[in-house]
Amino acid sequence: MGLPPHLTLLYRGPLASCDYDCPYCPFAKRRDSPEALRADRAALERFTGWVADRAAEDPGTRVSVLFTPWGEGLVRSWYRTAIARLSHLPHVERVAIQTNLSGRVEWLSGCDLSSAALWTTYHPGQVAHERFLAKALRLVELGVRFSVGVVGEPEHLEAARRMRADLPDGVYLWVNAAEGRTYTDAEAALWQELDPHFHHSRYPHASGGLPCRTGDSVLSVDGDGNVRRCHFVDVPMGNLYDGSFRERLGRRPCPLASCDCHIGYVHLEPLDLYGLFRGGVLERIPHTLPQAVRGDGVPKGHRVRP
Ligand code: SF4
Ligand code: SF4
Repeated sequence: MGLPPHLTLLYRGPLASCDYDCPYCPFAKRRDSPEALRADRAALERFTGWVADRAAEDPGTRVSVLFTPWGEGLVRSWYRTAIARLSHLPHVERVAIQTNLSGRVEWLSGCDLSSAALWTTYHPGQVAHERFLAKALRLVELGVRFSVGVVGEPEHLEAARRMRADLPDGVYLWVNAAEGRTYTDAEAALWQELDPHFHHSRYPHASGGLPCRTGDSVLSVDGDGNVRRCHFVDVPMGNLYDGSFRERLGRRPCPLASCDCHIGYVHLEPLDLYGLFRGGVLERIPHTLPQAVRGDGVPKGHRVRP
């Protein structure tokens, strides 16, 4: 079966180590053995080669990639190399990665910045405000597309407000509902002031039986090339490298009762988040930047991306 005109791949290899120590994360300060790192590198290079080969083997298909490592990828040279390589391929529309932004950023000047992008997360408690802000401002100078996110833990609120106030207007700051936490309306309103799209994250989305683009034009791929429709549905669809996934491509409703992660529900059709995030679905940048509120309560006004 041929591939769709546009294929999005969510790649997560075996890497499971991180240089940060977030209290809400199972990968905090985990280390990978040298063998595990070698395996991760080989898996990533194989995946990158497969994407590159689509130009010749599936010439009607454009590809976008979001790297969603369990741990931190950008402190490993092979993730930087993969993003730079993919960004320069004419058939690659977007290549992005989720990162804590702890590493250097100058390497991004070697990327095609019309296709490379970052989904960054600010983890107060792990990094000083000034240090994260300086990285973000350098990204702006370099012309990198990126969003900045914060996990909506109560102890992050002041830090998130301060970051919102100091980031340029043109940088979107999103807030993720903290895993397992429920918010009173008053609590949610505080986060909604910072991220006018917070309500999409506040509750899990009832997704059972609803049309979702995953499995059709969006796929999850692991380091061995095993394909599933998304990171959350544990039903194998075949393998990327032997082509066996192709015969199972197609539109199917979501088999789970709910979907509570942005990298999943952004593809859930009834939510129409492709409209909201048009041009920035993978790196989580809305097409029209919302009205954010400065720390002093003064609205920042609308910014429209070209
Ligand atoms: S930066 Fe991300 S991967 Fe690392 S410990 Fe924090 S939440 Fe986990
Ligand atoms: S709605 Fe979420 S869980 Fe369901 S198929 Fe789509 S991405 Fe997967």
